[in-house]
Amino acid sequence: MNNMSPKSNSSKCRFCGEPLHFTLVDLGMSPLCESYLSLEQLNQMEPFYPLHVYVCENCYLAQLEEYVSPEHIFTEYAYFSSYATSWLQHVESYTHAMIDRFKLNQDSFVVEVASNDGYLLQYFVQSGIPVLGIEPAKNVAKVAIEKGVPTLTEFFGVKLAQQLREEGKQADLIAGNNVLAQVPDINDFVGGMKILLKPGGVITIEFPHLMRLMQENQFDTIYHEHFSYFSFLTAEKIFAGHGMTLFDVEELPTHGGSLRIYGKHEDDDHLPITDRARELHDRELKAGFTQMACYSAFGEQVKETKRKLLNFLIEAKREGKSIAGYGAPGKGNTLLNYCSIRTDFLDYTVDRNPYKQGKFLPGTHIPIYPPEKIQETKPDYIFILPWNFKDEIMEQMAGIREWGGHFVVPIPEVKVY
Ligand SMILES: [Zn+2]
Repeated sequence: MNNMSPKSNSSKCRFCGEPLHFTLVDLGMSPLCESYLSLEQLNQMEPFYPLHVYVCENCYLAQLEEYVSPEHIFTEYAYFSSYATSWLQHVESYTHAMIDRFKLNQDSFVVEVASNDGYLLQYFVQSGIPVLGIEPAKNVAKVAIEKGVPTLTEFFGVKLAQQLREEGKQADLIAGNNVLAQVPDINDFVGGMKILLKPGGVITIEFPHLMRLMQENQFDTIYHEHFSYFSFLTAEKIFAGHGMTLFDVEELPTHGGSLRIYGKHEDDDHLPITDRARELHDRELKAGFTQMACYSAFGEQVKETKRKLLNFLIEAKREGKSIAGYGAPGKGNTLLNYCSIRTDFLDYTVDRNPYKQGKFLPGTHIPIYPPEKIQETKPDYIFILPWNFKDEIMEQMAGIREWGGHFVVPIPEVKVY
């Protein structure tokens, strides 16, 4: 089988411990996608690590081997959740839905793991509900604390959960958005949630849906910070492995297609399994997510996407067009490094996040400016890197039509708007 790894791979599945042999996709060598560079760092060596995704043939967890310690990745993390307007709307409506559905009030306790800058918990605080954020990145946690969201600067796992429980703290609701993919020790993380969850409590976790990633070609959402990629079926297995049941699931448009799973203690009878949880379970089974054949064509599909994108860029440059990027998200760095797109194609990119402005993209060294730069240089094409926000960005940047500018979106395949 051509998906079998040629090297003798010693890595084991981070959930079930089976050896990993089967390649989902190999994106070559790439730098850490959040390691934005200063001007001084441009002349220094830059570490690159393999971006090679395997699928476990036992539990179907798609995963990277662990190359980099999470301490290295997450202690000075550049991503401030509060910079994306539509993401804030998303989490605000989430908090209202949870308060209504699970009857949360001032006697409840809500914990968010990887609470970032308090972007989500602030809405529970506004409703008078006690909260605790857990966020290992010190610079980001500091922003949360300043805005009134109590936050522990620690990694979450069994040890911290036990410590909180000994202090009499158990949660009615544990939220985790885009963190399950990012934990190297998934059993320690999910095991910790089991300990921290009050009897009758609910866990909600959001993560990009592997089925959407594969069907819509979102290979750029693969990066070193994302160790794991889940189908609903695999998430069910992992939670069951820790004495919990997924009783509901929502399919969300965020990050190109995410799942919000709802977990409870397996012996909790007051929350019945919903039709939509059963339906998605069956749909994934039908789509073949428990058969290796389902995973074997993805690598070639990714290579073809790269060829089409490069064709477009080469043609545009031959016609003398100028191209600027919009955004400096992690996914952009995977895409640009995998496709070898540097300042030979993109003159620069822009980002609203002041932390990134004045820096350079890792690997490709494309400079990052504030969005006003686009008005100054009037490029022919704006290449939208965070394609999951493309509607919002095209609306904000509609002014480029004045000089005949167009938008380019690279995923699921290159398209001009
Ligand atoms: Zn496994």
